Amino acid sequence: MKATAKTRCPYCSHRLDGGKRRPSREHPLSETLGSSWNRWETCDACNRELGKLVDQPFADKLWVREQRHFHQIRDARGRLPGPPELLGELEDGTPVRVIMHRGGWYPKMLPTVEDLGNKQVRIRVDADDADPHAVLARKRARLEKQLGKPIEDLSVDDQTVNNPRVTVRGVEDTFLWPQMGAKVALSAAHELLGDDWLDTPHARWLQDVLWRRPTKPSAPFAPLAPTAEVLSPNAYHGLFRPPEHVVMVLNGQHGAAVQLVLFGRNRYLVPVGTSVDIPTVWWIDPLSRRHERLPFGEFGAKLVTRQQQLAA
Ligand SMILES: [Zn+2]
Repeated sequence: MKATAKTRCPYCSHRLDGGKRRPSREHPLSETLGSSWNRWETCDACNRELGKLVDQPFADKLWVREQRHFHQIRDARGRLPGPPELLGELEDGTPVRVIMHRGGWYPKMLPTVEDLGNKQVRIRVDADDADPHAVLARKRARLEKQLGKPIEDLSVDDQTVNNPRVTVRGVEDTFLWPQMGAKVALSAAHELLGDDWLDTPHARWLQDVLWRRPTKPSAPFAPLAPTAEVLSPNAYHGLFRPPEHVVMVLNGQHGAAVQLVLFGRNRYLVPVGTSVDIPTVWWIDPLSRRHERLPFGEFGAKLVTRQQQLAA
């Protein structure tokens, strides 16, 4: 298939117009991930909807926040991400927040108030809090307000929990990777194959995945994987450098496939169903917020240079 004009939106197939379907600047990989790659061949309606449906929930995923914090990747407004937190509890049931700091994870006790009977109340605060006494004073004031009288006796007991075992809970939405994969693949393939490709059953299937419509791929393809593969540091001989993102469109047995590598460590594969004339790579550096689009051959040559640098 020859590359043709791009006058339609890859996410809804509508012709771009001056109304709801007017062209808008869209980031196939969201700016929150540090990606500067953007296109004008997306309609305004899809841009807005997919920001809410895919980009934001994907950026909110725990491992994405952890990677952004670890590599200090700024968002679109230039803000640095703080460490993500998980709620959990110690073995005795004490609620804690687990701070996933880039220098090491640690738990922090949440303040609790416990009625021990006999007019005794135990207030527990984390001694490592910025100001444990202020937290204690606030808790005490609230309690006095509830009781309607001052607390007469107050003793402070210091305790430390060493190497605590913490149970944490998390939610994993197994539809977000397929949606993000479909979104990037639709944009990358549309860029290389043009409007005609949008009329293939395969492109329509990817749109169904993107919009969470119940769907099945045509043979010989399988549904998209629920999660990405985590590359070991030695995969590709360390050629991918965290936290770079790489979007590769390469030809295979059943047409092209988009290989997405996020933060230099998570690999996700999306078949496109049609071969491309020129295998192409988008090479994205989230730290400098720059990207390059280049033919795969040229990218390969740059990787060889990298390998030589590694060997030296
Ligand atoms: Zn659209």
